[in-house]
Amino acid sequence: MDTYPPSVNELVEAYSESGIPRPLLVDEVRKAIDERQWDKLDERIEVLKRLSLQEVVNGTGVILHTNLGRASWPSTFSGAPINLEFDLNSGSRGSRQNYIGRLFANLCGTESAMVVNNCSSAVLLILSALAHERGVAISRGEMVEIGGGFRVPDVLELSGAYLVEVGTTNKTRREDYERAINANRDVSMIMKIHQSNYKIVGFTESTEMQELSGIGVPLVADIGSGLLDENCFWLENGPPNWLIGEPGARQTLLQGADIVTFSADKLLGGPQAGIIAGKKDLINKCLNHPFARAVRPGGLVLSSLQDLAYKYLNRNWEEIPFWKMAVTTVDELQERAENLKIGTPVPLYSVPGGGTLPDVEIPSFGIKINDDISSQLRDMVDDNLPIIARVEDGNTLLDLRTINPALDEYVKSSLKQIL
Ligand SMILES: *Cc1c(COP(=O)(O)O)cnc(C)c1O
Repeated sequence: MDTYPPSVNELVEAYSESGIPRPLLVDEVRKAIDERQWDKLDERIEVLKRLSLQEVVNGTGVILHTNLGRASWPSTFSGAPINLEFDLNSGSRGSRQNYIGRLFANLCGTESAMVVNNCSSAVLLILSALAHERGVAISRGEMVEIGGGFRVPDVLELSGAYLVEVGTTNKTRREDYERAINANRDVSMIMKIHQSNYKIVGFTESTEMQELSGIGVPLVADIGSGLLDENCFWLENGPPNWLIGEPGARQTLLQGADIVTFSADKLLGGPQAGIIAGKKDLINKCLNHPFARAVRPGGLVLSSLQDLAYKYLNRNWEEIPFWKMAVTTVDELQERAENLKIGTPVPLYSVPGGGTLPDVEIPSFGIKINDDISSQLRDMVDDNLPIIARVEDGNTLLDLRTINPALDEYVKSSLKQIL
């Protein structure tokens, strides 16, 4: 290595085509010089490029890959001014929640709905608006942590509500809830939390929504993953087998829940958001709570969700990438794998992901490359789209279920280059 570093300017100039904004390049070059690493700038700039947000190819077979942004949902938002909080009818101030709320109320078959930033904020808002300084009855079997850090008892504490534990880890019955309510602990609601990401097996008993209806306090169901309807009315052939048993928002409300909450970027297949749907008076309390403003989504998300709601309402499920990936047949995937004519076509299992359906494996097809080439596949030489693969037993697997068929040729040529 040269003892004296080249000039900052010269080095910055050398990477001017990297796509990294100049001030950041200057920063990085100075750091490299301080650390006497100017001969490693190639690598350092590559690391920086890989840090920026960009499209990737999801070859992992995890349909809702949390690290890849869960559901893939293309936004059509142009960024032009929109009537976000402007009522075109009256020419005065409107509500961003009004129309989107109507769409989701209709989709869930209920009175009212609103949208917040994610399901965690939905739960936080409900607890704050409906249970502040009051008790919330939750089964001991549903005191869960979802993803990294969404722990039900912690969210409860944050909201100012207090926990009234009910039943036991494996068995909770209606009488347990009744006892909690009658014990005069000022129980403001019962909250049922869907066991999205774990299972309790063996001798278990949980209380169904129907058994709790009419118990005297509002029933809130955090169903999390957000299947709109168990019958998947938008699919001609009904739900795929692996979805059987997953609670639908519609059915949960029909069975007596007063409110349901779910994520928009899990089984709904949309952008990151949280939906709260149910009884009008309860939703109004949420809308009027100061937290509602703190957790409200912007026009980018709301217009994108409106697009998604229209796809469901118009039964255009083929335009929802999540459902395309979910129902593609193994035969189709096998054909694509064979047409690639690179690597070895192999049967695989995809998983729903996103902390949903922990036991489910969905038969799939993809290709196997002997050796771990996952790092080369993530390379962005010539501004390539990074391809994210699965590595098993030292071999690289690409599951075609989660890859857009329009990218098959791209995947093939990338593999050719590497191999
Ligand atoms: C995923 C999930 C959440 C958290 O939702 P985010 O949208 O990730 O904030 C909360 N509750 C349940 C039951 C979930 O499955």
